[in-house]
Amino acid sequence: MKTITFDINNLVRENVKGLKPYSSARDEYVSDGSDMIFLDANENPYENGVNRYPDPQQRSLKTVLAKQKGVSIHNILLGNGSDEVLDLIFRAFCEPKEDNIITLPPTYGMYKVLANINVIEEREVLLTSDFEPDVTTILETVNSHTKIIFLCSPNNPTGNSFSEEAIEKILKDFTGLVLIDEAYIDFSTKESWLKKINEYPNLVITQTLSKAYGLAGVRLGVCYASEEIIRVLNKIKPPYNVNELTQKRALTRVLDVDKVTAEVGSILRERAHLVHELSAIDFVKEIYKTDANFILVKVDDATMRYEQLLKRGIVIRNRSTQPLCEETLRFTVGTPDENKKIIEILKQL
Ligand SMILES: *Cc1c(COP(=O)(O)O)cnc(C)c1O
Repeated sequence: MKTITFDINNLVRENVKGLKPYSSARDEYVSDGSDMIFLDANENPYENGVNRYPDPQQRSLKTVLAKQKGVSIHNILLGNGSDEVLDLIFRAFCEPKEDNIITLPPTYGMYKVLANINVIEEREVLLTSDFEPDVTTILETVNSHTKIIFLCSPNNPTGNSFSEEAIEKILKDFTGLVLIDEAYIDFSTKESWLKKINEYPNLVITQTLSKAYGLAGVRLGVCYASEEIIRVLNKIKPPYNVNELTQKRALTRVLDVDKVTAEVGSILRERAHLVHELSAIDFVKEIYKTDANFILVKVDDATMRYEQLLKRGIVIRNRSTQPLCEETLRFTVGTPDENKKIIEILKQL
């Protein structure tokens, strides 16, 4: 039996190991709230709400998130959307032209794009026919240059959550980073893997305020991981990567738990209703099990149905070009009125 050990020094890029991060004015002097005169950052001194640089460590927001999620603020990194968080992870751990990552299509397209941007080989291991990770093949695909395995659960565009056993086996048998993208976790019946970040030193979790929290427009992505991983990411992040307006708006929203919970509840009820109605449409061949705020369905002719809906003012996503997704359409759950409208139209087609 081979001994599996995790050592972050085997994963961090050499240039990042030696890097001395930029020290901004706001890093050097941290305000304790007392009445100071700030002449350290060449800002315009006239108050307008955003004339000062934002907190580079987003302490107010992280403090609330840490409390809600039961982690330390040192387990959190915030970014300009998950997309920035994912890019930072690539740049911290993957050596261009040398390292590789593994993705499991059909899945979120950004992993591949970011791999290409960062000149990192992307190795693809298809999900099984029931959209589960093919653990044996994944582990066979790993070599000494494999830095990250991307698991999107609940997965986009299929909607299902991966089995816990599959995820656990990958976490245990792979010594690189296992990134679980939990963008849709708030719609899922499964628990987040957040509670396991202290158990698995190689576990990285990303979440976002773009879906359940309804803040796609302000761009806030969240990364949860061990303090040692977060420390590495903090070294390379742009100092003011989360702007003041985003920090304020996100804080207000995460504090409004009741509102978010109510909206998610409504979306879940509407999802069940949509699934029920879709099952009565004769050109709908299959409705895949979903743990997210969207539904993937197989139809008779996806391109034709997509065009028909578009003509009637409804934009959905045709996912037919994705492997294992031939003739599929992805519907995001809308408001009750929107869902009623789409069902009416589908019935008329
Ligand atoms: C929508 C989505 C995201 C969100 O990305 P942001 O940059 O935070 O808006 C991340 N991962 C997956 C799988 C998604 O579908």
